[in-house]
Amino acid sequence: MTASTHDVERRSAITCPHCGHRKDEEMPVDSCLFFYECEGCGIVLRPKAGDCCVFCSYGTVPCPPIQEQRCGGDC
Ligand SMILES: [Zn+2]
Repeated sequence: MTASTHDVERRSAITCPHCGHRKDEEMPVDSCLFFYECEGCGIVLRPKAGDCCVFCSYGTVPCPPIQEQRCGGDC
């Protein structure tokens, strides 16, 4: 386990907009999850327009890359 990142929340609960099924998922740190199959109804969720991954659209916590996106003073 590398703890190099600052307080990045790795867990996000995805709520299916179709059936309301909610599931805690662990997010990959350096990649975005584009497709997510709901365990409740089997529908495949995709990010909404403007969102990079399903966690940003349907999760309680946005994905790690978004969380880490802070202005370092040179942006
Ligand atoms: Zn569902």
